[in-house]
Order: sequence, then C-alpha cells, then structure tokens
Amino acid sequence: MARTRSEASAHAAPPGGSAASRSSLPEVDWDSPALSARLRDAGLRPTTARRWIIALLGVQRVHPTVDELQRLLRAYDHEIRQATLYQSLARLSEAGVVSSFVDSHGLLRFDANVDAHHHLICTGCGRIDDLSPSMPEERRLGSIASDLARGHARWLLSDARLELRALCPECAAGR
Ligand SMILES: [Zn+2]
Ligand SMILES: [Zn+2]
Repeated sequence: MARTRSEASAHAAPPGGSAASRSSLPEVDWDSPALSARLRDAGLRPTTARRWIIALLGVQRVHPTVDELQRLLRAYDHEIRQATLYQSLARLSEAGVVSSFVDSHGLLRFDANVDAHHHLICTGCGRIDDLSPSMPEERRLGSIASDLARGHARWLLSDARLELRALCPECAAGR
C-alpha cells in the first residue's frame, strides 16, 4: 500500500508527527458533526472511539483487520486500546454502522460500506476495492447469482457477496 503513496510531496514535517507517513495520509475530518449524528441515528452513543473508527473507515476504504485499523489510527496519532477497538467494532457492526466479512485467509475485515456489494481483491498486494453497484455489470451479477441459486434445486437467494480475484492497476503495471 505504501508503494502507491510514494508521490507524496516532500513538505516539512508536522511537529511531533511521523513525517513521511503522516504527510501522505488522506485527510480525515475526525470532528465532523455528521459522525455523531450517524451514531445517534443508529442508537449509539457517539464515543470518541466510535467516531474515530467510522471517520477513518469512511476515508481509508481499505477493509482493514482490527490490527490494521489500529495501525492506521496510530499513523494519525489516534490511539485506541485494542480491547476498546474490539468492543467498539462489535457495537458498530451490531448497529449496522459498519459491515464485516471474513477474507479467504480467515481474517475478519471491516467495511464502511454497509450496502450489499462485491469485492475486487488484488492477488498481488491484497488491496480490496468495492465494486460500484451502479455498474450495469454488477446488477447482472446479482441476477445471475439469483438464477444460479434457483437452478440449484430452487434455493432462494437472499444475499450474494462475490470476491473477484484480479491484479490491481499498480501490480499489473509495476511487477
Ligand atoms: Zn495490487
Ligand atoms: Zn467493501
């Protein structure tokens, strides 16, 4: 992932920050009132940890594991204890504010996108992108999945999450 961010400009180090990584990180609006509103709408108290998690997941759409999420937060100088992180993610998942899935290595990953969607997974670097549901091909995939289930002794499809394995543009070009 760091490889793709090497275009970061060489401006001065922020005081007390870990310069190189910090300057290349996308901006996160940690204090946006929309974060608290979203948590309250879901029936959750807007604790600092919960706000930080959804702020970060909304910007860094990398589908992190708990460990990766903690490292990302640290890169922004935001520290959440792991126990708190686990508890917060559990509450956010229960309330439907974040979604989660188990990847092919058995790792639990978190996703700010709670709408039904499919994933494109890079076999080179592991990057996971959401497929845009507005693509007509994605809609066709849904109807094919439904036909497949029905064709298999008349199962009725309720949900389909496909993992499409491919090479991302950086890996396809750079290896
Ligand atoms: Zn890749
Ligand atoms: Zn996703």
